[in-house]
Amino acid sequence: MMDKRRELVLRELGLLPLWVPRARVRSGQSAVATEARDTPSTVVSVRGEDARNERILRADWTELKQMVRTCTACPLHAGRKQSVFGVGDERADWLFVGEGPGAEEDARGEPFVGQAGRLLDNMLAAIGLKRGQDVYIANVLKCRPPGNRTPEPLEALRCEPYLLRQIRLIAPKLIVALGKTAASNLLHTEASIGSLRGRLHDFRGTPLIVTYHPAYLLRNLIDKAKAWEDLCYARETMAGLKAVRASPN
Ligand code: URA
Repeated sequence: MMDKRRELVLRELGLLPLWVPRARVRSGQSAVATEARDTPSTVVSVRGEDARNERILRADWTELKQMVRTCTACPLHAGRKQSVFGVGDERADWLFVGEGPGAEEDARGEPFVGQAGRLLDNMLAAIGLKRGQDVYIANVLKCRPPGNRTPEPLEALRCEPYLLRQIRLIAPKLIVALGKTAASNLLHTEASIGSLRGRLHDFRGTPLIVTYHPAYLLRNLIDKAKAWEDLCYARETMAGLKAVRASPN
């Protein structure tokens, strides 16, 4: 069955329905011929997208990096200096997911290297973590949206398989979603950060914790205390996860 969000995006783009009414098929026309006449580019592009997704979901690190480097799957590729793949320990227990590259990330090809990145590094240090050491940092989007605007649904959809593959390859023990874009894209919810933080979510079998985005915290100092609570909660959760795995039973 088609994923709800994907269906929504395809519907928004006027690309649904993909299949023709049964009556027309029964009347002697083959399904393929009828589709081809009614919605030619639709059928081709949706099938092409499935093939692309499958290639991404089977890729190893080298192939995946190459695919992201040369990706033209959404209009954002036209405005980028370079794509921003992700950085860190490729077998990390911790995965932090942000929204998308800003100007500095676009220039340097690494996530969270601007002002928000400096705060993220401090947040990591506060719980005894360091970029690259048992930590991986990635974004929902691999290319910079103009003016650092929020990702469009289609952009996030096209980029989603890259992040899914990164998560599968890393196999982190815990994912920390930084901000609304990461939380809503990973958990497929429109709920607020306020209502999502403070509890454990499940991302396809991997525990996930939601907290505020560092860029938001730079503007809303009052919520730094809540982010600190979230980090302590994440640290306790990780300790529990490691204890469970370490126990002989
Ligand atoms: N904000 C993000 O979400 N990601 C980055 O890489 C930089 C800023």
